[in-house]
Amino acid sequence: MKYNRILLKLSGESLQGAQGYGLSTDVLHSYAAQIRQAVEAGVQVAVVIGGGNIFRGLQGAGRGFDRVKGDQMGMLATIINSLALQSALENDGVRARVLTSIRMEPIGEYYAKARALEYLAAGEVVIIGGGTSNPFFTTDSAAALRAVEIEADVLLKGTRVDGVYTADPEKDPTAEKFDAISFDEVYSRGLKVMDLTAFTLCKENRMPIKVFDMDTEGNLMRLLAGEKIGTLVHL
Ligand code: UDP
Repeated sequence: MKYNRILLKLSGESLQGAQGYGLSTDVLHSYAAQIRQAVEAGVQVAVVIGGGNIFRGLQGAGRGFDRVKGDQMGMLATIINSLALQSALENDGVRARVLTSIRMEPIGEYYAKARALEYLAAGEVVIIGGGTSNPFFTTDSAAALRAVEIEADVLLKGTRVDGVYTADPEKDPTAEKFDAISFDEVYSRGLKVMDLTAFTLCKENRMPIKVFDMDTEGNLMRLLAGEKIGTLVHL
């Protein structure tokens, strides 16, 4: 396999699937099956999931919610999604742990790097919920932080778009996809891979990012096997 230890970032929004709200069991099942294959191939898999299918602090603030409370609601939403994925993985026969950045035993164990590494080494999937535990951050930042912290080989950002394009491919049909692009070129072209806090954290810590379409089943394994999938953001 191309990578030994990955941090997989999944968006909350993608968990909605075709129904457009909440949690789709089809999507959860598909993600669980793909993660199972990676674990069976010997890859250590840590996961950070967003909460956008349930609540986003910034959107809440636009509707009169206090921003900090809204962000806390968003972070709790990531825990709900983490539990849903854990459940889907366990149903598929994969051992999975939820570690939370906010103390909330017995829902999950309190996150610590050493604990995460111990479970990863034992072949368990480690789902890190609760974002960074701080408001005004995103789960992309949590994913970047945890990827760096657990010394992942790569941060894999699973999205519904299959990579980084010269423009938004959902709006501009002439947009072209990059197979690889440097951090500096992403900045200079004003492209958006992740929010800038997350992106800069990766750059400063030399953490490569791979953006790929996780909604096409089999893509995760193809990528891990070294096939040309998605876009690699490199130094
Ligand atoms: N959030 C936060 N701090 C963090 C991570 C997340 O405050 O470290 C909140 C924030 O309100 C965010 C919400 O949790 O909008 C859900 O996360 P995100 O929007 O990143 O989810 P995604 O877009 O990946 O579904």
